[in-house]
Amino acid sequence: MESCESLGIEPILNEKDRPAPRCPHGPTLLFEKVCEGGSKGRRFYACSACRDRKDCNFFQWEDEKVSEARQLAREEENKAKLPAFTHKQYCARLKKFVDLPLQEKKFCAECQLLLLPGEQAAHSSHRLTEVTSAQLRRPSVLLRPLENKKSNAQYLFADRSAHFLLQTLVQLGFKKVLCVGTPRLHELIKLRNLEKKDTPMQSLLLDIDFRFAQFYSQGEFCHYNMFNHHFFGGEVSRLILQSFLSESDGDKVVMVADPPFGGLVKPLAHSFSLISQAWKTQQSSDGGVTEMPMIWIFPYFFEPRIVECLPSFRMLDYQVDYDNHPLYKHGKTGRKQSPVRLFTNICPRDLVLPKEEGYRFCSVCERYVWSLNKHCPKCNVCPSKDGREWKHCSVCEKCVKPSWKHCGACGRCCLPDHSCGSSAGQGCFNCGSLKHKRKVCPHKDTQRTSKNWTKTKTGNKIGPVLKAKAKRKSGAARRAKKAAALSS
Ligand code: SAH
Ligand code: ZN
Ligand code: ZN
Ligand code: ZN
Ligand code: ZN
Repeated sequence: MESCESLGIEPILNEKDRPAPRCPHGPTLLFEKVCEGGSKGRRFYACSACRDRKDCNFFQWEDEKVSEARQLAREEENKAKLPAFTHKQYCARLKKFVDLPLQEKKFCAECQLLLLPGEQAAHSSHRLTEVTSAQLRRPSVLLRPLENKKSNAQYLFADRSAHFLLQTLVQLGFKKVLCVGTPRLHELIKLRNLEKKDTPMQSLLLDIDFRFAQFYSQGEFCHYNMFNHHFFGGEVSRLILQSFLSESDGDKVVMVADPPFGGLVKPLAHSFSLISQAWKTQQSSDGGVTEMPMIWIFPYFFEPRIVECLPSFRMLDYQVDYDNHPLYKHGKTGRKQSPVRLFTNICPRDLVLPKEEGYRFCSVCERYVWSLNKHCPKCNVCPSKDGREWKHCSVCEKCVKPSWKHCGACGRCCLPDHSCGSSAGQGCFNCGSLKHKRKVCPHKDTQRTSKNWTKTKTGNKIGPVLKAKAKRKSGAARRAKKAAALSS
């Protein structure tokens, strides 16, 4: 395994002849180490959802023989990791809970559990809070956001972004919203229905966080892993999704996904394609439409990867803000730029970005752009990706970041303080190699790697196995590095 200079780990998605072994997060993914020169390393299975071995340490070589004893132990382990209650049980509990008098409606902050009478004694040393019916309708506020930086951090939309999304979907005439990893949007849709001012919208939440099963019926929430399109609830959940995707009453469906940013693009794109395919089977064949409308929320620097996997997707300039993200939320004074964008196969012309927040329509590009994103007549696009005003370099014949200067020695634009020929900004933006540029990268189809990510300053992308080897930086150092990367 150590025989080659590793460039990264690539998930293999099209080898379906053998069923993958399962970890507590459903079927594992097959990975392959890609080496300098394009040679391939030994393949292995690892958890689809967790990029930290601390969270899920499943590992198996593709050609490994697994003894029956180990197989059984594994199944035991998978069973042991199942939630305390089934979704049905949670629904029955909720029914009882809503009928309790207010002073008996208790939520255990430690266990993140709505308690029924008689259960409080077992939680006597825990912090219990009273739950009003208003709070019961806002699980994303009541529940503590998951904080696992690698796999499962929950970054909740700030009000302005949540309302922008909802308003946009309403204006586009969607009647059903498939919320994949967007619990706050799901919640807002249900709240809007309660107000009964407009025609109601249906919403189905797919999320790996099973705590939501305490608040929603089986028709409103499915326990789901978006990295392997796995329904923990099995066939029942699959059918719930299938019927949600039908537009029999002319109710248009849209998907809005906000995956964890450390996630692998390829498996996500694969799952979203499977959702789109399921949608397609529900369509009458008369319309020319072939793809389910989708919005995928992700940082702008993933644009090449996303567009490569889903060619019909375009990145919009809209900057998504979060409540609890240390870097991406607005400061009290002035606006902090968020690197998070919407990627969508909906026509950009139809996605009206709010003028009062500084967006305008570019009639040449036929899309809404950020105020500082000025149209370049030479490139004939609004070129900025990161929200700053880019400038045209006549030697490179393209627009570049404002902080870059053209370097004669390197023959390209770079940060002024780079060391010629060896800077981190040099080399291949796809695989991190210093020996070639992205255009001629032999691994164009491979995932960016942990190595490359730390090199390219974003520092949060760790492969499932490489992670163990990766040097850990302190949280503060990482955050500082990230901040620097966003503004350089
Ligand atoms: N901005 C969103 C939350 C995004 S945080 C909002 O405000 O609604 C990412 C979400 O994806 C979380 O809800 C998390 O529980 C979920 N998630 C993380 N990993 C997942 C996986 N493998 N499969 C499905 N959902 C996942
Ligand atoms: Zn796992
Ligand atoms: Zn230009
Ligand atoms: Zn240049
Ligand atoms: Zn140089």
